[in-house]
Amino acid sequence: MASCIFCKIVKGDIPSFKLYDSPKVLAFLDINPLAKGHALIIPKTHGEKLTDIPDDELAESLPVAKKIAAALGAENYNILQNNGRLAHQEVDHVHFHVIPKPDQQQGLG
Ligand code: 5GP
Ligand code: ZN
Repeated sequence: MASCIFCKIVKGDIPSFKLYDSPKVLAFLDINPLAKGHALIIPKTHGEKLTDIPDDELAESLPVAKKIAAALGAENYNILQNNGRLAHQEVDHVHFHVIPKPDQQQGLG
């Protein structure tokens, strides 16, 4: 979708700090992190809400979240996925947050 900021990141039109890149999924650091290591995992296919993305496109996302949390050394963390403005969704391209808890960031430098 031409106006979507995350589609622009997928295309490389907007820079990002990439953590994982496969044909279906991209993960990168959040530009405004709630904690050090705050990462976003997105299906490359554009869809506004979880219900807009086919299961096979979503299937890789949680395993990637798991790998990123492990790579960050985060033992305590939240996985968050917002749908709709009232649920605090700001970017209308499905994304999963991995948010390490600030007091458990050994190994994050
Ligand atoms: P939401 O509230 O939609 O679940 O979260 C959107 C997230 O996307 C926010 O945490 C915000 O900081 C992040 N974000 C918005 N624009 C950009 C961007 O251009 N690059 C990156 N890396 N993250 C972004
Ligand atoms: Zn998009």
